[in-house]
Amino acid sequence: MRRRKTIVVDSDILVVGGGMGGCGATYESRYWGRDLNIVCVEKANIERSGAVAQGLYAINCYMGMQWNENQPEDHVRYARNDLMGLVREDLGYDIARHVDSTVHKFEEWGLPIMRDPKTGRYQREGKWQIMIHGESYKPIVAEAARKAATKVYNRIMVTHLLMDKQRANRVGGAVGFNVRTGDFYVFRAKAVIVAAGGASHIFKPRAVGEGMGRTWYAPWSSASAYALPILAGAKMTQMENRIVLTRFKDGYGPVGAYFLHLKTYTQNAYGQDYEAFWRDSIEQLVGDYVNRHPVPTCLRNHALLEEVKAGRGPIRMVTKEAFQDPHKETIGWENFLGMTIGQAVVWASQNIDPKEVNPELTTSEPYVMGSHATCSGAWASGPEDYAPAEYQWGYNRMMTVEGLFGAGDAIGGTAHKFSSGSFTEGRIAGKAAVKYVNDLGREQPQVSEAELEDLKKTIYKPMENYEIGRNEIVAGTVSPSYLLPIHGLQRLEKIMDEYVGGISAFYTTNEPLLTRGLELLGMLKEDLAHIGAEDLHQLQRAWELQHRVLASECVTQHTMFRKETRWPGYYYRADCPKLDDKDWHCFTLSRYDRESGTWAMEKAPVYHIVD
Ligand SMILES: Cc1cc2nc3c(=O)[nH]c(=O)nc-3n(C[C@H](O)[C@H](O)[C@H](O)COP(=O)(O)OP(=O)(O)OC[C@H]3O[C@@H](n4cnc5c(N)ncnc54)[C@H](O)[C@@H]3O)c2cc1C
Repeated sequence: MRRRKTIVVDSDILVVGGGMGGCGATYESRYWGRDLNIVCVEKANIERSGAVAQGLYAINCYMGMQWNENQPEDHVRYARNDLMGLVREDLGYDIARHVDSTVHKFEEWGLPIMRDPKTGRYQREGKWQIMIHGESYKPIVAEAARKAATKVYNRIMVTHLLMDKQRANRVGGAVGFNVRTGDFYVFRAKAVIVAAGGASHIFKPRAVGEGMGRTWYAPWSSASAYALPILAGAKMTQMENRIVLTRFKDGYGPVGAYFLHLKTYTQNAYGQDYEAFWRDSIEQLVGDYVNRHPVPTCLRNHALLEEVKAGRGPIRMVTKEAFQDPHKETIGWENFLGMTIGQAVVWASQNIDPKEVNPELTTSEPYVMGSHATCSGAWASGPEDYAPAEYQWGYNRMMTVEGLFGAGDAIGGTAHKFSSGSFTEGRIAGKAAVKYVNDLGREQPQVSEAELEDLKKTIYKPMENYEIGRNEIVAGTVSPSYLLPIHGLQRLEKIMDEYVGGISAFYTTNEPLLTRGLELLGMLKEDLAHIGAEDLHQLQRAWELQHRVLASECVTQHTMFRKETRWPGYYYRADCPKLDDKDWHCFTLSRYDRESGTWAMEKAPVYHIVD
């Protein structure tokens, strides 16, 4: 087997993932920690990485406090309502009170934000969204992080966190490999901030085969934000709370700007407004939540799904009216060109001109992420001045592992942070991590040489499997002794789809299905020891798969634990079809024991701080 060079990097603060959360963490760590050694490590290149890589057309979280448009409490109420009552209000409030200053920085750094010509204020798309010319959003944000970091290491996939050999529950750094050179990297750190993004491709996507990479959330979001803390023993929360998006069919183009700014609306195949048909039946499932304003995202999905099941699909967005206005037509197209170019291409390829044809909508496969209209992620300590005592065990945004912080998709319980809120949460985590490092003083974690040697062997094992096993290939890519990452991925997606509530099951599952799903995931985990990687690119795919599988197991355990259907339209527990506020108005928590491979589940209380 080829010898791999080992490169050791020492730092005070290590930021894993240079997306929105990671750039925020890097930037703010430097502000508070002028003399500290701050390292950011990224599997792609921070210039164009993460979910914002191809740009955005709106910043979805901006209060507008300078114009008294909204207050942080309003945002907490909004997110709580959308998530059917369950959010970490302390964490959400903490982001909301700081998010405006983040957006002002973006503008200072050169991000063009549209202005309302009459008022001079930022142009609103909706109550919380402001419109930007955001094709270069990510490079602008990345520049701030690059200037702040002691060093950014691009093209390094982090595979595992390192633990302190003296204190079992303290983090000591991370390891990974360079996806171009193959070098083994050891990052020793006093504090680690995980901001490695959410998870696409854990459920079978609607677009398969030639369209496989066409998912709503970025296909390169491979669940590292979850797998890394899970493996380190951090508690996770609300991992059952996967998200399903209503999007333009086949291209996953976003619908927000169309609804909010262009004032389009939906109808069934027969031109009827169908949402009202389902109001009473939804009320029977979830009670008063359906009468709230705005109607929670999952319930709107539910109405669409029921309408399709009733045979009155396809559901279409009425664009023909709005697109008669040339200004609105331009906005409609620009919305895609700045964010989801693929949708414009799909429409062109399917002869859809939204001025002439009302395009179809559909619901996506489920994703797991903590920064959008959903709450999955690590269980984190809250702000000192605002969090209830039970939510405070350490520094702000520290997970249940000492020295391990998180931001963006990585942190659970805080829906609706989006790009600006994720960056803000990175800033909050960065500031807290600096305080943690300063308080540590001269004391610092030690990592075990033996553990490093073991990890080095483990990480490159798929290449060894391939090198040996390829001599036994029977035909094409079929080998009796290894499976390729793509095979493992497809098997994972099929299990999650069929047993844990994916598209082919109309998002429905139950205890027997989940039980079988866990058995099959267990078998898949056994087979992951036999993944074969023919090159470094495939080695990255192999480790992305490992992360996706572990996160999927966590999702399945949580789905099994919560015995109710809290978010119809996101998923259904057919054996517990109703929302049950008496027993389940709580957070679900899990902790993975990597020695035994078992999960411990518990409930945690939801505190309503904002009235
Ligand atoms: C299609 C789409 C549309 C969206 N629209 C909007 C919008 O209009 N407005 C808005 O405000 N927000 C929007 N969002 C949400 C926003 O993009 C996310 O909330 C935000 O990017 C989350 O930040 P994050 O840091 O958690 O993840 P990301 O920004 O995705 O960053 C994660 C980073 O970690 C890196 N990484 C992953 N794994 C590893 C690893 N193992 N080792 C090293 N590095 C790793 C990734 O390459 C990436 O750079 C949209 C997202 C998508 C996908």
